[in-house]
Amino acid sequence: MLSHEANSLKVIFIPFIATSHIIPMVDMARLFAIHGGVDITIITTAGNIGIFQNSINRDFSNHGRSIKTHILEFPAEKVGLPVGIETFNADIPPYMASKVLEGFEMLQPQIENYLFGETLEVDCIVSDSFYPWTVEVASKLGIPRIVFCPTSIFSRCVELSFEQDQTHTKVDSDYDKFTIFGLPHKLEITRLQLPDWIKETNRFGERMKVINDTTSRSYGAVFNSFYDLEGAYEEHYKNVFGTKCWSLGPVSLWANQDVSYKAERGHKKVVQEDGLFKWLNSKKENSVIYVSFGSMNKFPLPQLIEIAHALEASSHDFIWVVRTKNTNDKELEQGFMEEFEKRVKESNKGYLIWGWAPQLLILENKAIGAIVTHLGWNTTIESINVGLPMVTWPLFSEQFFHEKLVVDVLRIGVSVGVREWRNWNQFTSEDLVKREDIGKAIGLVMENGKEAEEMRLRAKGLSDDAKKAILVGGSSYANLRQLIEEVRALKLQRLNGN
Ligand code: UDP
Repeated sequence: MLSHEANSLKVIFIPFIATSHIIPMVDMARLFAIHGGVDITIITTAGNIGIFQNSINRDFSNHGRSIKTHILEFPAEKVGLPVGIETFNADIPPYMASKVLEGFEMLQPQIENYLFGETLEVDCIVSDSFYPWTVEVASKLGIPRIVFCPTSIFSRCVELSFEQDQTHTKVDSDYDKFTIFGLPHKLEITRLQLPDWIKETNRFGERMKVINDTTSRSYGAVFNSFYDLEGAYEEHYKNVFGTKCWSLGPVSLWANQDVSYKAERGHKKVVQEDGLFKWLNSKKENSVIYVSFGSMNKFPLPQLIEIAHALEASSHDFIWVVRTKNTNDKELEQGFMEEFEKRVKESNKGYLIWGWAPQLLILENKAIGAIVTHLGWNTTIESINVGLPMVTWPLFSEQFFHEKLVVDVLRIGVSVGVREWRNWNQFTSEDLVKREDIGKAIGLVMENGKEAEEMRLRAKGLSDDAKKAILVGGSSYANLRQLIEEVRALKLQRLNGN
């Protein structure tokens, strides 16, 4: 018989300070508490806790889960930032981003002090891949470090392919398509669509090398995914990387089953959008397109104009989550967008959201027929959960890889035709996606043709698979239980001095 102490588990989750890393990792931490009876502490900074505080308060007080936070002090003053600027999202002006990164790197001693604290007795660290040094901390503590990869298993496989084969260096032109080496599917890409850190040696590339090295030295990796979605790549990852990996998703679907959790996810309080749901509920099934580019992106005015015209000319209604840039164009922008909003309100054709959208509630509404998305992994999997086909508009990060997954492997999306990868928030007026191309792609996913119908059926099939994965006996459910039991067994070995 195990003693109570040997049987109980204390796991520390350490999310990176970006909204879209915190959201899924907190969902995952909550799942450890809900399904494994694990004692969870989430480490974050004071300015980031609002993103998820309410959900864990409710887990604790309404459901008796053992889940709490440990708060770090972000060194805003030391790096010359105004107090409260400590998150990577669309609200930080680009010139402040390097300071936020500087402040983030200064958090290491605070986290180490906490983890090495005499009374903590931690059994496992689940760390965002952006804290590579936690691999050494875990090793000193004699406990497993599990790395949280905030992306798809597919994109990690693609990155590993480029690291190993350097295929991009063997092609003559930036524009020629070539096959990505060694993947389960034959997929083509151009050099123009690759992230800069793959093409050149830059600081982020150096960071990625360290991340890859420490990921392979970790006990294993966890992903917000499920086997029926990425099984071929889960197997490929295990074989090529040679480390353990568990798909434990879709975490948003699994951890947020009540309306209140969905309404507040990623935000300090329930997003008050009564008008929005009244409007949405008045619309026919599958008649509205949802347009959102995540938590990080802001487009310049000329691109907003192209989107606005495409939406207005489309025969479908729309919701658009608008984030505008604080540029010299401000007045022009306000003028144009205000006029546009007024017109689409009057015609009852569109609804603009200027702040944080309650995305999970919008996506699951019957009126939504498709999404225009930048293919951030969270939004991609949230759309799959509810069976929505996608218009794919990749921007930065690994989003062009997700376009390959969605359009070519899963065949549930239509590309808007972006040709070139850009760094975060470095779009210029020369990179515009034209209104005709936006309109054409929306038409292809929303209209009733045979191809759109088949795409919709495939998307619905994946949604059914997602729902099964998180039920007792489903792949993610089994993975979560297995992982927790493995960590428990490791603890026992440690206590027995092995
Ligand atoms: N999100 C939201 N409301 C918004 C914008 C984003 O709820 O107005 C959520 C969305 O549901 C997803 C996350 O924020 O969970 C965005 O992550 P994703 O990986 O899609 O994109 P990123 O923000 O990293 O570009």
